[in-house]
Amino acid sequence: MEKTEAIIENSLNALMENKDFLPDLQQEDRKKAFSSLLSILSTPNHIHKSFLRVTLRDDKVVRIPAFRVQHNNTMGAYKGGIRFHESVSEEETITLASLMSLKNALHDVPFGGAKGGISINPRDYNKKELNLICKKYVQYFADILGTDKDVPAPDVGSSEREMDWMMAEFKNIHPGESYRGSFTGKSVLNGGSLGRKEATGKGVYFTFRYILHDFLKEHKGDYPDSTNPFLKTALQYTEKPLKIAVQGFGNVGSVAALEAYHCPHLNNKVVAVSDRNVTLYNEKGLAVPELAAFTKENEGDLPRTSEEINGLGIEAEIMGRDDIITMDVDALFFAALGNVVDEHNMKDVKAELLIEGANTPITAEADKYLSDKGSVIIPDILANAGGVIVSYLEWLQGRETTMYSEEEVFKQLFDKMKHTMDTILPQFFGDPFPLRQNCFIHSVTKLSTILYIRGKLY
Ligand code: GLU
Repeated sequence: MEKTEAIIENSLNALMENKDFLPDLQQEDRKKAFSSLLSILSTPNHIHKSFLRVTLRDDKVVRIPAFRVQHNNTMGAYKGGIRFHESVSEEETITLASLMSLKNALHDVPFGGAKGGISINPRDYNKKELNLICKKYVQYFADILGTDKDVPAPDVGSSEREMDWMMAEFKNIHPGESYRGSFTGKSVLNGGSLGRKEATGKGVYFTFRYILHDFLKEHKGDYPDSTNPFLKTALQYTEKPLKIAVQGFGNVGSVAALEAYHCPHLNNKVVAVSDRNVTLYNEKGLAVPELAAFTKENEGDLPRTSEEINGLGIEAEIMGRDDIITMDVDALFFAALGNVVDEHNMKDVKAELLIEGANTPITAEADKYLSDKGSVIIPDILANAGGVIVSYLEWLQGRETTMYSEEEVFKQLFDKMKHTMDTILPQFFGDPFPLRQNCFIHSVTKLSTILYIRGKLY
């Protein structure tokens, strides 16, 4: 909870200094509005938790901790993924739910913020058991989920398969109720959207490319007096070919790496990728498509022996899993779990461009250290919103019982992300606040103004 509160309080503090924020309020009323906002935005609306009772293949009965945190629904129905991972906790789910509220507000996605979690290592369970766990999750939380109430999606450890199963159970429990929009990230045959699977990874690379190349190339002369450290560093990278490393090679990392690989006009090279076992490195550039094809055939794992690498006919050096974090590259994309850069390794991070495809990969302490140093940190709520943006398109397609082409989906996705950046960046580059704080301020302003208009602050 501490982390969320600090984020929101920081943003509110900055807002309260700003005379344009709720300008018709007198000083006394501003103070009251501040404390109401703080309590509304820093506490989740609901924390639902349960232990899913599941009978495993050997007839053993286990009770699996499961959560659904509904943080805020000012902008619309609660929305956010369900994480399947052994590290899932109530605390972490609250932080991730509040980030969803801020992410949706930032990109004008008409949803609130929520997050779910099931505390298991999915690799320990067979398909039948996982199917049962998914059904139980929906049964336990059936009353709080629904197309206009709370719409889950995939997250770390879950995919379209789990969403298909969950939607089927929702349909069983609520016959006659609209169900197509009750879960997003479903498979295309089952009412999913074209492009949803690639959306997060594509959006991550688009955000990076847009800021570093498109926006800054066009506007580089616009801020002659700016002391913004992000801007100073970023400008050194706009013209030169970049060495890129991607930490995590799942649904987000593999797609971001492929985007970088297929973007040859920028002359960027993906020199390293990693997964839960290894880092693979090649200073001349890795054969990303071959690696992506390999992981598809091998339960998501990268090759990790020289035989496997030779078998693919490619060249790569095998290194330790975490070596990628401190590797001497220009850009490091995070696409795995949270808190991978902390006070222990922050001083060893050499990449100056850090892109958060994962949620919260950098701890608060490391974030401060790296931003003070002038690293370019493109924060999670800006960079990794592609998933929820296309989830929104999927939800819309479900309502309209129509199907957009993949081209239309990506066009809408990139237009939305571009619009957000065009709104934020011009002011940000003339500002002293880090980009993360700028994004938070933007989201909190939007949520606060809506709450104020609705008369909820007094
Ligand atoms: N789990 C993804 C996220 O963290 C997607 C959420 C969604 O599509 O609702 O943004």
